[in-house]
Amino acid sequence: ARLANQIAAGEVVERPASVVKELVENSLDSGATSIEIDIEKGGHKRILIRDNGSGIVHDELALALSRHATSKIAKLDDLEAICSLGFRGEALASISSVARLSLSSKPKEQTQAWQAHCEGRDMQVQLNPVAHPDGTSVDVVDLFFNTPARRKFLRTEKTEFAHIDEIVRRIALSRFDVSFSLKHNGKLLRKYPAVKVQGSELKRLANICGKEFSEQCIELNSQYQQFELKGWLAQPEQAKPHGDFQYFYVNGRMMRDKLINHAVRQAFEGLIGADLYPAYVLYLTLEPNQVDVNVHPAKHEVRFHQARLVHDFIYRALTDSLNQYFQ
Ligand code: ADP
Ligand code: MG
Repeated sequence: ARLANQIAAGEVVERPASVVKELVENSLDSGATSIEIDIEKGGHKRILIRDNGSGIVHDELALALSRHATSKIAKLDDLEAICSLGFRGEALASISSVARLSLSSKPKEQTQAWQAHCEGRDMQVQLNPVAHPDGTSVDVVDLFFNTPARRKFLRTEKTEFAHIDEIVRRIALSRFDVSFSLKHNGKLLRKYPAVKVQGSELKRLANICGKEFSEQCIELNSQYQQFELKGWLAQPEQAKPHGDFQYFYVNGRMMRDKLINHAVRQAFEGLIGADLYPAYVLYLTLEPNQVDVNVHPAKHEVRFHQARLVHDFIYRALTDSLNQYFQ
């Protein structure tokens, strides 16, 4: 079972940034409003995530580390309408099979906090009482210590941290209502305070995408039937040779998708050169049963049930706002 976990770990845990992604998504699923991310040595040495979410009760701590243990899908039908970010019950099992992992948690209704610890192949999960505020911490130390082949693929501290920084940016753009902080080697590098008032999202946008983008972008807000597309789009004149950022979210999840790229590209056709890319941060919302996110473990790809309709809606929405801009 441990071997199976290590194989699966390859799919979910490619590098420190993928660990951060899975753990932060768990924190978001738990309803956290504040998430602290503490990294040492690009994540090779340590990844520590703290949240103030619902916590995990004592009796479920060990279970949370076992494979296919998810508390998020009550019945199979739910797969059709997943709203939580995680649903496979693989992340913690996979990460704990390739690192030394401590999971500490205290649900509000429990007076004592508990910690589960396990290391690589060591199947024994030990439970110990600890001091911990309401919420959960996951401490991942010595990533890939027992899989040298995978450790070899880790890049420099700087590169791995850059990937983490990018993942945190993407996630922070998906949840303006949650505050995030990111430390590297003890130094606080990023702070994204929660956006309390609707309409002041531009502060975080400036914080993440730069002042220039936030001040000059075209705001977008389109509806058609059950589809909605909101967000921000760089002016065509601002398109760059190596598109600085193209962030597209489908029901709150960041996606990279050919169909979406194509629709965006088409909307900009004739306005920018073929070698230029417009920056954007866009949020598509549609009925959960209209989209299949269960395509790839890394969950970057998406399958739309009405692909053509979605494509044309995105194209229309962008074209309309570009036309308005040029008027
Ligand atoms: P999944 O997210 O797909 O359910 P994971 O392996 O990522 O699987 O997590 C397993 C389970 O552990 C989750 O279903 C959840 O019940 C619990 N869990 C993990 N992280 C947290 C957290 N930060 N707060 C509360 N519960 C958590
Ligand atoms: Mg998860």
